[in-house]
Amino acid sequence: MYKIAVIGGGVIGGMVARQLTKYEKSVLILEKEGDVAMGQSKANSGIVHGGYDPKPNSLKAILNVKGSKMMENLCKDLKVKYRKNGTMVVGFTEEDVTQLKVLKERGDLNGVEGLEIISGEEARLKEPNLDETVSCALYVPSGAIVCPYELTIHSIGNAMDNGAELKLNFQVDKIENKGKYFLITSSKGDVVEAEYIVNAAGIHSDEIAHLIGDRSFNITGRRGEYFLLDKETGDLVDMTIFRVPTKMGKGVLATKTVDGNILLGPTSEDIEDKENKETSAQGLGLVREREREFFKNIPWDKVITQFTGVRAHGDQGDFIINSPMERFVNAAGIESPGLSSAPAIAEMVVEMLMDMGVNSEARADFDPIKKGGTNFKDLSMEEKNALIQEDDTYGRVICRCEEVTEGEIRRALRENPPARDVDGIKRRTRSGMGRCQGGFCMPNVAEIIADELGISYDEVTKMGGNSKYTFGRIKG
Ligand SMILES: Cc1cc2nc3c(=O)[nH]c(=O)nc-3n(C[C@H](O)[C@H](O)[C@H](O)COP(=O)(O)OP(=O)(O)OC[C@H]3O[C@@H](n4cnc5c(N)ncnc54)[C@H](O)[C@@H]3O)c2cc1C
Repeated sequence: MYKIAVIGGGVIGGMVARQLTKYEKSVLILEKEGDVAMGQSKANSGIVHGGYDPKPNSLKAILNVKGSKMMENLCKDLKVKYRKNGTMVVGFTEEDVTQLKVLKERGDLNGVEGLEIISGEEARLKEPNLDETVSCALYVPSGAIVCPYELTIHSIGNAMDNGAELKLNFQVDKIENKGKYFLITSSKGDVVEAEYIVNAAGIHSDEIAHLIGDRSFNITGRRGEYFLLDKETGDLVDMTIFRVPTKMGKGVLATKTVDGNILLGPTSEDIEDKENKETSAQGLGLVREREREFFKNIPWDKVITQFTGVRAHGDQGDFIINSPMERFVNAAGIESPGLSSAPAIAEMVVEMLMDMGVNSEARADFDPIKKGGTNFKDLSMEEKNALIQEDDTYGRVICRCEEVTEGEIRRALRENPPARDVDGIKRRTRSGMGRCQGGFCMPNVAEIIADELGISYDEVTKMGGNSKYTFGRIKG
């Protein structure tokens, strides 16, 4: 019997689990996929929003501002890439200036520091490639960027280093309330028991709530499509640029990522099938069209990949954080600014659990620092040499684009939460994230995975399940 089961291995489940392990060791994370960070927390813009956009006094406003203030220190502890690059919301017309004033007023009320409305010229001094037609902007110095899947993986890893357990490929299908505990059954028939449950199942959080008879909200999948450009294009923009928002959200953005690529998108389209992560010619066409408002000189020939993320859009107009039943907490409908708010959401959820009886005495042995080493390429020459002397697998570069060594790949297969497939290695080490998108390194990565896991090369998958790369030998 576990004390608390957290359903969902996204950034919310991860942060909640980590926050819980400050007080309680018996924490279980249940994730339906073969790895963590496979939902919204994998494919989003990675912006730590200042908090000027949500309605004052809403959970989104309060938790966004609090979460974004917590993020920098948290990222230091978790060894996650974070950079305060600043945000600008740009406008083109007199009407947009009025909108920007509304945003500034809202931001001031929400407690966002340093907001300033500036002219088009001032905006171009900060971002020289901005189009001539940009006539005004809201400057948000507290805006930052983070690597969203790294934040998720490292928060879950730190929770596990502190005693939490993770069950992958466990799709929660049934929840029975047995009075003092819940019986949780997976779609394969596996069963676990837990006294408390946190529902952090993202786009499926309404379906999890339905399992206990809570039909108070519904979630719609809202698809967002992106282009990712080669690091060579990094001079295009340094800050995060938004357009004045519309009813459908914040519109497309242009930003540098923490790894130095340029990210353009996302679209915003409600979809029937919540798991539809396809990109479309129409969606990507729209991104191209909208981005031209910001920059005329986008090097479209430097696109290295495109992808889709699906937002968990709730029907309550705010994050849904409540307790519909004793010992059960919903952290549902956590769409944007959910990544920015995640540390504050975790604190709120854990306080709710404590009010219901979960231990509130801090553990003396909790270690907030994520175990594990720094990326090889970020070490000094002396440190690199010392590491190679200790372990010569750090002397063999596997991914040439991102300079990832064999040692780092082996480490990602051993550290919490361990990678089990090629995409898992990619998210943990960046091997395969570069210009060639794994064209050169994938066969070597697969070989290392097979060796570490003691499986045959044919059994290595891209992303679990049947996503095998190879089917027998050509000359065999
Ligand atoms: C396109 C896009 C752009 C965004 N941009 C930003 C941004 O720039 N800044 C920002 O602050 N926020 C942004 N967000 C929002 C942010 O990504 C989310 O708020 C955040 O990732 C939510 O995390 P989560 O853990 O609730 O959901 P997820 O990351 O989706 O995690 C839920 C997990 O639950 C698992 N699961 C589902 N059903 C079950 C089940 N039955 N059993 C077991 N496991 C289950 C899923 O597989 C998944 O791993 C964006 C979102 C999208 C999609």
